[in-house]
Amino acid sequence: MQSVDMLFAYVIGGVGAWAAALMMLVAVQGDRLHRGVLSRCALGFALLGVGMVLSGVIDRAARWPILTLAMAALVATLVIYRALRELVGAPAVGLPRRMAEIAALCVVLLLAWAAGARSFALVFHLVCLAVSLGIVLAVRRALVAPRNAAEAAMAVTLLFYAGTWVFALYAAVRHDGPEHRHLLYVEPPFLAAYGVIYALVPLLVGAHVLNLANARLDRRLRQQASTDELTGLLTRRALNERATAWHADVLERERLPAVLLLDVDHFKPINDTHGHERGDDVLRAVSGRLRGTLREGTPLARWGGEEFLVLLDAANLDEAGATAERMRTAVGATPFAFGEERLPVTISIGVSAWPAGGVFARAVAEADAALYTAKREGRDRARVAGAEQGRQ
Ligand code: GH3
Ligand code: MG
Ligand code: MG
Repeated sequence: MQSVDMLFAYVIGGVGAWAAALMMLVAVQGDRLHRGVLSRCALGFALLGVGMVLSGVIDRAARWPILTLAMAALVATLVIYRALRELVGAPAVGLPRRMAEIAALCVVLLLAWAAGARSFALVFHLVCLAVSLGIVLAVRRALVAPRNAAEAAMAVTLLFYAGTWVFALYAAVRHDGPEHRHLLYVEPPFLAAYGVIYALVPLLVGAHVLNLANARLDRRLRQQASTDELTGLLTRRALNERATAWHADVLERERLPAVLLLDVDHFKPINDTHGHERGDDVLRAVSGRLRGTLREGTPLARWGGEEFLVLLDAANLDEAGATAERMRTAVGATPFAFGEERLPVTISIGVSAWPAGGVFARAVAEADAALYTAKREGRDRARVAGAEQGRQ
């Protein structure tokens, strides 16, 4: 490990970068959400591969490959950096600004190249450190509060990468000798470590990029599956998934888990008279008013077409009935305004208790029966399951 052929390590790293680019191009086929970001990353990795492989295979006496390696590595890093930012949720940077950054970087490198070997080495190391620190800054949220393992792994890798440039810059400043074709001035045995790092980092970062894209895709799909598209409320599936844990939590706090089933009265005529689009507007508006009556975090789902379900954490059934009454009034008291149009809408509500040891489906069936009673008694009212039995 004492002596390592750095240029050969670059060839390995470059081929790794090409492999990463290839994997990204394959991933793009199945991930439309990240098509742009992954394509740009693939471009960056392909360019990085060109710079690294060329520097290793071209005549070792020539000096110009130093410049092409530095330019390719830095431009590629910048391209990947800008794409990465978006993968961790930072705002995108426009194409003109990205092009200007690349142009500025090339000009700085060319000027340093013209100024001589030592200036070039120092400027190259400074820019590498600046760019890698910029990347760490961009992904700092992922470092401090990662949303998933992919973000954490990426952030730690990038922090480590920035650290390698701190040490490399220190070595470049201290170096007092001939220019190195591989552009690094760290001494053995650290040079061997750098050889291993640069042979592996492109492929490793490429794998992180793919993991990040997958994790984001997974989050997006989960969010879509749990959010009703029309109203923004929970879907029936999401509420079903949460119900058991919610139930246990409410019982633990010695409160009463209650189920409220709500149904818009005579909704079909609204659709028939005003059109389906207006019907959708009404559903959105009703959802908004319902949400407004509940505490933040109370599960409220669109249960079916014009039906809603609330999981209510109440002191007792009377309190649950009072909440239902509040929800009924919130919807029915004031007609909805759509431009000049005023549309009075009412809802009926069935309330039931979901006692300890009880089954959710049974509580829902009881709320449904109470809702049916409310409908039968003339609509625009709330009925509580136990009370309903008492009335019959
Ligand atoms: P009731 O008072 O007995 O509940 O009468 P209703 O007209 O509300 O009940 P019904 O079940 O007959 O009609 C429900 C209507 O809701 C029928 C269906 O076309 C409509 N609907 C279901 N989902 C949607 C939707 O997403 N958008 C719109 N605009 N209408 C919907
Ligand atoms: Mg209905
Ligand atoms: Mg209805």
